[in-house]
Order: sequence, then structure tokens, then C-alpha cells
Amino acid sequence: MNAEPNAPTAGSAGSALPAQPPAIKDAEASKDILYTLRHFHLGNPGVQEQLEPFGDDYLPALLAPYRDASRLRYDYPLFLYPVAENGQAAEAAELAKPLSQFLSETLESVAPGADNARILKDNLPRIEQALRQATKDDEAPVPARPLLQQLGEQMVQQLGLDSDSSARLSDDLEKLLEAIPDGGQLLAYGRHPAIHLLIHVIRHQVIPRQAQFQEQLQEQILGLGRLLNIEKEKSDSGRKPEHLKESVGGSAALFDVNALSQVMDHSQGSVGMSAERRERVQTALEILKEYRQEPTLVRFVHLKDLDNTIFSDIEGFESVVSDDPCTTAQDLFDQEAARLAKVFAAARIAQLEIDDLYDASIHDPWFASFNWEAFSQHELLLVPAVIALETALRVANQAMPQFSRLLNSGRPVQIMVRVLAHANPGRDTEEDPFAHFRTELGYLGIAHRQAVVGQTSAARHEHLLQQFTTAFNATRTSLHLINIGMRPLGQGVGLNAWLVAGAALEGRVHPFFQLNPAQGDSFAERVDFSGNPQPDRDWPLHEFNYIDNDGEVIKTQSAFTFADYALLIPRLHHHFTPVPLVCESDNLLPIADYLALPQQQTDAYIPYVWAINANGELRQLAVSLTLVHACRDRLNYWHSLQEMAGIGSKYIEIGIAKARAEIQAAADAERAELLAAHEAEINSVRAEAASEVMGRLTEVLMGMDLTSATPRIAATAPVQPSPAAADVSEPTAESETPDEAEAEEDIGGYEDPWIDSPLCTSCNDCLAINPLVFVYNDSNQAYIADASAGTFAQMVEAAEICPSDCIHPGKPLNDAEPGLDELIERAAAYN
Ligand code: SF4
Repeated sequence: MNAEPNAPTAGSAGSALPAQPPAIKDAEASKDILYTLRHFHLGNPGVQEQLEPFGDDYLPALLAPYRDASRLRYDYPLFLYPVAENGQAAEAAELAKPLSQFLSETLESVAPGADNARILKDNLPRIEQALRQATKDDEAPVPARPLLQQLGEQMVQQLGLDSDSSARLSDDLEKLLEAIPDGGQLLAYGRHPAIHLLIHVIRHQVIPRQAQFQEQLQEQILGLGRLLNIEKEKSDSGRKPEHLKESVGGSAALFDVNALSQVMDHSQGSVGMSAERRERVQTALEILKEYRQEPTLVRFVHLKDLDNTIFSDIEGFESVVSDDPCTTAQDLFDQEAARLAKVFAAARIAQLEIDDLYDASIHDPWFASFNWEAFSQHELLLVPAVIALETALRVANQAMPQFSRLLNSGRPVQIMVRVLAHANPGRDTEEDPFAHFRTELGYLGIAHRQAVVGQTSAARHEHLLQQFTTAFNATRTSLHLINIGMRPLGQGVGLNAWLVAGAALEGRVHPFFQLNPAQGDSFAERVDFSGNPQPDRDWPLHEFNYIDNDGEVIKTQSAFTFADYALLIPRLHHHFTPVPLVCESDNLLPIADYLALPQQQTDAYIPYVWAINANGELRQLAVSLTLVHACRDRLNYWHSLQEMAGIGSKYIEIGIAKARAEIQAAADAERAELLAAHEAEINSVRAEAASEVMGRLTEVLMGMDLTSATPRIAATAPVQPSPAAADVSEPTAESETPDEAEAEEDIGGYEDPWIDSPLCTSCNDCLAINPLVFVYNDSNQAYIADASAGTFAQMVEAAEICPSDCIHPGKPLNDAEPGLDELIERAAAYN
């Protein structure tokens, strides 16, 4: 909502918060009230007498601060820039500006900085308000400078400043007036803002092009003239003395032209222009010379509903009354195009002849059938614009065939349809607008795939200018669906039409979209959806703070829905009833929350909207089920448009879900493959280890003396077999006898330390004692890398602290290590 009310806005924090009147809640009464409200909601007329009377002064709570329209600052009047003198067609954004923006920017350009023209700058809002008041009843643009001068001088008088200040203010005002472009106009928000802006766009686009075309024609006329003169000079008559005299001008006195004529060859001459070519050139020249530019820039074809007095002063505007505007507009375009086809053909022939490129075998057939379909974009833009003004009801009913035929014709004719946002275009305005699903003219336009279609609100002048410029330059048939809003007629409601039109955009009643087929074949290229507030949401959300009837400040957000918009339309007021103040129930739900529920879960609830009456009281208004259905219908249309614009598209959601599922399936398959490979590897290692152990056991069993003492076998150390086992498995001829071995054991000979690595828990304790001796393998389990890098004492200490008891210290390597007896004794428990 672009307006700037002088009063605080709804939802702004502070003392001006809207408040519910105080009330004592009554649980018993609430049950009866809910019962009655439910009957109202479901459309039972029998409860009418039990409902609180409904005043026509309610406004949606978010719009209530704008109730006093006289104090409202908003975009209109617009300052309309005159057509530039440099002959360039202007961009849409350069065609008009809101008055407040125009005044402040213009003044800043002549008096930059806060200290220059301070009094005038401080009083700009006052001038702006005076201009707004002065133009509010003007239905057509008015010259800006004289009005500003008059109101500015009045303001100087009214301010009653001292003479110095008054003189300074007058000087600054003069500078501001001088900076206003000649021909600039002010356009108020009357009944026809869209039509005036369309005329404004056309003037800016066409006038510079016509000037360029006139220059081009003049050059071509001269060029053709030169061609014919040269030809003449080649002829026999061109060699006559008098012609030679003419051709050399002032220098003739230096020649004997009679003698010159006699010596020139009169018998054969140069190769001359063929009769056929001469005739073509002469015909083209005559057509170009005869061409007079039409004063009419734009023709409006309408059903007598256009007040001609409003447009009579507009230069280049022509009003045509017809009971079939679409057909008449098409005929008018064809007539104008046929007239101009001769001129454009002559201009093209002229250029080909001047460039000596005309080839009769190619160009004769081409120009024989030259019509508007062969026009270049530049030529199409020179055909006076034709606008068919139609009504929504007609194009959705009896005029649909003509409307459709024109939209499919490809002719660059514009169709403008003004709509009442809340009404169903397919039904008479007297009918219940919610009795049927709504006919969407926007969809109807889109169905004509090659037409430019724009749906917007006159409250958004920048959208209109952009849409009209795009449509005009696309040189295709275009449909403009414009909502201009209507002023609520209720007592105490001063809301203006501009705000109502803006509210229709907010409430998704008449959403913005523009579709330009010239941009490409996909919706992603064709559709512009950017003009909608918060386009990714169902309903736009606004901050809303209020004081409830217990006196508590509630800070929240409120959505602006179709139901809020419907409250602006008096004939829809029977869809609302105030919720009695004593009622307290969890079954009352803001309508946006209600609509967000799955439909089968809504039965228990009664939806409401927040509203403020003329006394400033904040109330909940329960909403009828019929209006709820209408909200769902609007939401359904909104979702379709969102999808067309690539927002919240189900196709995209389904695509993302599918891609996620594919990625997950691929990841699962890879994981399963890795697990299988891992398991196979483990099984292979196990089998290898078992085979090795069995082999060694067999070797031991085959080689040992079963009558001697039982040898020690490191069967539990498959990867790192114990040295003891190795000793036993490799007996030699010089093996000690059992007695000798026992004797050596007694005296403590060296025995390799080892770790049962698979049992290691990777606690790191042994590595902390000596990281050169104790080292992790690839599986992060310890083994002895180099026993000689540490002491036997460290080996024993590690065995003692190892939580897995997997370190076996063996016997000392260095007999000279101190305290060996005690260490060997401690080690024995781990060997
Ligand atoms: S102390 Fe034992 S369990 Fe801990 S890392 Fe060393 S070998 Fe492994």
C-alpha cells in the first residue's frame, strides 16, 4: 500500500493503536452466540434478527488509517512529462511521476541541499495537498505550471511571512516554476486514468517516430528528384544549349554553350532509364509528395460510454462510437493500414531506386501484394493507434466471438477492458457475484497465445505505463484488463477509488500479471508477475498491533485477504456480522488461518476479519461460508497465476521430490555395495587368518615332541603371531632339550613382546608411553613397531595399563636393564 496517511497506520506501535471496546467475557453467553454465528456463517436467514446490526462504516483494520481521504498523500495526481524535443521515444519510467516525487526532485535540482529554498521545501507538502485538492474533480490532464504558479502565490500570501522571507520564497517558487518542463501536465485519479495514460504513452511513442518518418520522406523526395534530373540530363533535350546553360549556372559566361551543344553526341546518348522505371520513380515521388500526416494519433472505439467532453481537448484523440468496438477497431485499422501501405511501399521503392537496388523480378510481385502484414515494426508504429474499449460483461458473453477474432488477428490493435474487481465478468453486475465460479478474462486473453495480455490496476501507474509501452512496441494485438476501483458509498467511509483499486491488488482480487509472447515461447520468458505484493505468499502479511478488550497490547501480523477487500464493497456487507464483544471462543479464527486449514478440518471454526468502524472501534466480523468459497476461488486463481510465474509450482515441487528420491536411491545402492564389499573383505581376511593359523598349528603338531612339555602357541594372534609360537613352529637340529629350555626360561632369556591387535580399543595409553615402540596400524589398532626403541620397563608398564590386556611384554632384550627381576615377575602376569 503506497499511500501515506497523515494519521498513524494500522499496526504501528504507540498510543494510536486500534482498540477493542472493553467487554466482560461470558462463557455461557458465548455458547449461544457461537450457535447463532454458526447459523449466520452457514447462510441461515432465520438468525438475522439475533445478529448485531451491521453499520456501513466498517473498513478492514489495515485500511482504516486511510479513512480520511482528504489528508491522504498518494501517487496521484501524476506529473506527465511532455514529449521530448530530441525525437527519442521515452522509456516507460520517464513518462510520469507522482506529484510529491516530481516536486521534491525538481526543487532539489534547482536548490540543492537542505539549506537552499528551505521555506519552500518545508511547505512542499502544503502545495502538494493544494494541487491534489484543486485537481481532484478534473477528469483530463491540466497544465501543471499555471496551476502551480497560482497555488504557490496563494500560499505565499497565506503564510504571512516577513518581507525578506516572503521574497526568498517567491524567488524559490519562480525557480521551481522555470524548472517545470513546458507542456507538463497533472493527471488526477478520475474515472479514466488508464485511458489518459494510454494516450500519453502513444503520444510519446508515435510523435518522435512520425517526425523521423517525415525527415526520411523529405530525403527520399530529394533523392528521387535527383534521379529524374540526371535522367533528364542524359536526354536529347538535356543537351540543348539552353539546358546546358542552366546546368552550369553562373559559369555559363565562360562557355560557348551553342558550340558545346553542337559537339556533343546527339545520336546515341548514355543508357537512359527505362520507361517502366521512370514511371515507377515518378509514381513513388508523387505519392511521397502528396502524403500528409494524419492529425489523429489514437482512435478510441467505444459503446457510447465515453464522455467525449473529457477528451475533446486532447490533441490527436478521436472518439468513435460503435455497438461492436472490436470489429470496428479492426476495420479502422485495416483502412488506415491500406492507406499507409501505398505510402510505405512508395518509400521503400524510393529507397531501392536511390540505392539502385530495385530488381523488378523480385520487387514487383512483392509490392503488388504489399499490405500491413508486410509492414516493418517501425511502419506498424506509424499507423494511428486504434483502441477498442469493451466491457467485461460483453467480452465474457455476447461480444466474445468478435473479441476472440480480434485477439487472434495479429493486428496491433489494443483492447481495453475496465473491470470491477469483485464482480464476475461473466455475470450481470446485478447478479450475485458469488453464485458461479468467476470467468477469468485474463485466462481468456492467455488462450489467444500471440496476444500481449496485461492485468493490472490503475492505482499502479508505473505498471500501466510499462504495460502500455510494452504492448505498443510489441506491435501485436493487446488486451489490457484494468481495475480502477470504486469509491465505497457507506456512511462515514471516505476511502477513495485509488485505495480501493490498490486493495484489489493486495487482496488477490485482480492480481497483476503481464504476458508478452514476443519474449519467447515459455511462460518463464513471457510472464512478468513482479507487480504483486509479496508474490510468494497466499495473502500479503502486514504488521498489525492492537489493544484487546482486556486492555492488553497484542502485537501480531494480519493478512489482507479477499474477504477484507469484500468489506469495501457495500453490496457485499451481508456476508459479515460483528462478533458480540462478550464472546470468547477458540472456534473463532482469522480467515487467512481458516483458509490455510485442510477443508475437512474447518467445520468447527467460524472465520472472521478485523474491522474498524467510524467510531474507531476494532471488531471481529464473522464471515459467511459463501464468502469463504469466494476466497477459495480467488486463491485458486492466484495459485494458477503463481504456477504460471514459476512460484510454488507443483511441477517444480514434484521435480525436486523426484530428484531427491533418485539421489537417495543412488546413495542407498552405493552404501549397500560398499557394505557388501566390506563384508566380503572381512570374510576373506578371516578365512585367510584361519587358514594360516591352521597351517601353523599343523606345522607345530607335525614337528613337536608330544612327550615333552606343552609349547606356548599364539593362536589368538592371527596377524602378529607370538614369537613363542614362532619359536615352537621352527624347531632346529640344535634345539635345546626341554630341560635346557626350562633352565634358560628360569634364567630369563629374551622373548619378543607382542600385542593382540584385534583386541586393541585404540585408547592411546601405550602410545603415550613410547610412540616409537607402540604404533597404530591402518585399522587404528596398536602393534609393536620396534621393541628396541624402548625399555622393558615401558613394555611392562604398558601391559599393566592396557585396558584390553592385549599387550604381552615377553622377556627383556637388554639383560643390563636395572630392576629386571621385579619387571620379569610383573610381566609374567601378561605373558
Ligand atoms: S594400551 Fe592397549 S588398548 Fe590401549 S592402545 Fe595400547 S594396545 Fe591398544
